Amino acid sequence: MSFLKLTKSIQKINNFNNNKINLINKYFSTTNINNSGGGGNIKLNDGRIFKFEDKQTPLTIANKINKTIGKQSILSRLNGNKLISMKEIIEMSGKDYNIEFLNFEEHSDARICFWNSSSLVLARATMEYFKNENKEIELINFGHLVNPQTADNINQGTFYIDIFFKDKNQTIKDNDINKIKKIMEYIVKRNDKFEILKNDQQDQDQDQEESFIKFGEFKFKNNFLTIDSSNSIVSLDLIKNSSVVGPNKEYSELQRIVGISFPSKDQMNNWVEIQKIAALRDHRVIGKDQELFFFHPFSPGSCFFLPHGTKIYNKLLQFLRLEYRKRGYQEVISPNIYNQKLWETSGHWDNYKDNMFSFECDHTQYSLKPMNCPGHCLMYAHRARSYKELPMRIADFGVLHRNETHGSLSGLTRVRRFQQDDAHIFCTPDMIREEIKQCLDFMKYVYTIFNFTFHLELSTRPDSYLGELSVWEKAETSLSQVLTEFCGDKWTINHGDGAFYGPKIDIHLKDANGKNHQCATIQLDFQLPIRFNLEYSGGLNNNNNNNNNNEEINDNNNNNSLNRPVMIHRALFGSVERMMAILMEHTAGKWPFWLSPRQCIVIPVSNKFNQFAQEIQSKINLAGYDVDVDLNDSKLLSKKIREATVSQYNYIIVVGQEEIDTNILNVRKRDLPEDNKQVKLSLNDLFSEFKLNIEQFK
Ligand SMILES: [Zn+2]
Repeated sequence: MSFLKLTKSIQKINNFNNNKINLINKYFSTTNINNSGGGGNIKLNDGRIFKFEDKQTPLTIANKINKTIGKQSILSRLNGNKLISMKEIIEMSGKDYNIEFLNFEEHSDARICFWNSSSLVLARATMEYFKNENKEIELINFGHLVNPQTADNINQGTFYIDIFFKDKNQTIKDNDINKIKKIMEYIVKRNDKFEILKNDQQDQDQDQEESFIKFGEFKFKNNFLTIDSSNSIVSLDLIKNSSVVGPNKEYSELQRIVGISFPSKDQMNNWVEIQKIAALRDHRVIGKDQELFFFHPFSPGSCFFLPHGTKIYNKLLQFLRLEYRKRGYQEVISPNIYNQKLWETSGHWDNYKDNMFSFECDHTQYSLKPMNCPGHCLMYAHRARSYKELPMRIADFGVLHRNETHGSLSGLTRVRRFQQDDAHIFCTPDMIREEIKQCLDFMKYVYTIFNFTFHLELSTRPDSYLGELSVWEKAETSLSQVLTEFCGDKWTINHGDGAFYGPKIDIHLKDANGKNHQCATIQLDFQLPIRFNLEYSGGLNNNNNNNNNNEEINDNNNNNSLNRPVMIHRALFGSVERMMAILMEHTAGKWPFWLSPRQCIVIPVSNKFNQFAQEIQSKINLAGYDVDVDLNDSKLLSKKIREATVSQYNYIIVVGQEEIDTNILNVRKRDLPEDNKQVKLSLNDLFSEFKLNIEQFK
């Protein structure tokens, strides 16, 4: 899509939204008050009061006020809190109600209701279709895919179903999707009603607590609110199908279908336009256009980073390595394959075996590591440690492998082979607070450079936890205190969501597109040090250790006593692969100079100056910057400059006779305004500017 066309699309979307809002305002301002006397009062959200007799439903009320409100409302909110469907009966006699009508355009609760209902249409169509095909399926999940925290407009959200094929070799083909969509369209046209079956209408053999939605011949066990009938779904499409991980061993892999639907065709057209714009920012598109990486079917989920992609990858690692130097981390290199016994000790064999690549060697079972922690425990334990060595912060960029299901693999965001900016901090319980504080400072430093905003969440002790309650409580208290010191009240608690081995802080970042990602994590671990029997000698006041060797720990003031360290797992990028994907979309491929794989290109005005261009390139290259030269004689100068611009080179240097004579370069800077892009600089001045860019992360 051309830039002009893109701009027009955005304008169209904005105009559309404004028109819609004006229309809604108009309806409200022309409505008259109905004074029929008796009954009860209905107060609207804008303050107007209407009198109604007898039994009413939100729909009859809305229609009496204004038919369009009735038509557009999907749900209503009663007395400020209770969501009810438009068909629910309200007893008017002598009572006053406050009612708010919720439409698709403005209210996320209405959209959730609409997409939940759409998922039932999809579920019904899918079941009908596979029944006809004589393929046995089970419907496992259905509903909306809306994150209430982030879905603040009509273009953020979808609906889905997850099904399970009795025959595990079955998957959903494109042809199936097309046919299911046709059935959905047919169901929608038939205008079937959604009926909620209350408990007292249930068959005797049904559980009294459950409520059902009846739709056609199908009954769906759920209690969510639905739209009245299926013909409100004016426009729909099925947009994705993939495998997803199931809830348990029996249903280990499910097939997911994702759809989108709207109450109007215009809304669908807008959504399609927005998807096109978003696709241009998709990291898979940028990765292909900029020749950064690719995947090959011979190694699914393992990325081939091309030279320019590798440059970004290495710059990210180099950036952290420099910080490690400042922040007292030591980098280590640890093995990739480990004997099964290690995984038994760490607990991975019981809990994570299915996600590990395992194989036999020397008649023994080995696995590729899915994380670095157990290896780092061996490193800690390979000789006696003293409290004087703590905190011990070890960092590892080791290659990790996780056996993600084939269907869940997606670009760089879900891969099988990746590296983490992983580090483990071994410290005394008293050091936890300071170490966590330093981790948070480090995270903030990194995220500020990338221009991410972030939100912190403390996940606390789950119902099934290991270890002493007092240790947990003390740790949670100190984490809360650190968080408050760090960001005041701008953090939240996620009760009971900690790992079984310790509480954790999750960091949710928001990128330039408003998308949320969870990358960084800071996790306390009381269990691995016990499992690997990690100890340090000396140090004072460690009352909470779990060492069973009481004789040795009785005297805490004895410098030879053995104590148990605490382990902190922390990562800021999480997976480097995934962080690269986020950065590609965050920057839309316009890399800042310091991270850019194409910092500079030298273009001769004609082939007469090829040699001079190469000399300049060589000088810039040897100075440590990523520079290319375009010596392709078959292209005009203007075409070379255009291509370099599209490729997002930060600096374009055009050289000819004048540059040879004066030793001053003609430099075009990507990030300067269009009418002011060109500057004249000596090579030394250019290097000073490059150096400054890198120092300031520009
Ligand atoms: Zn770890």
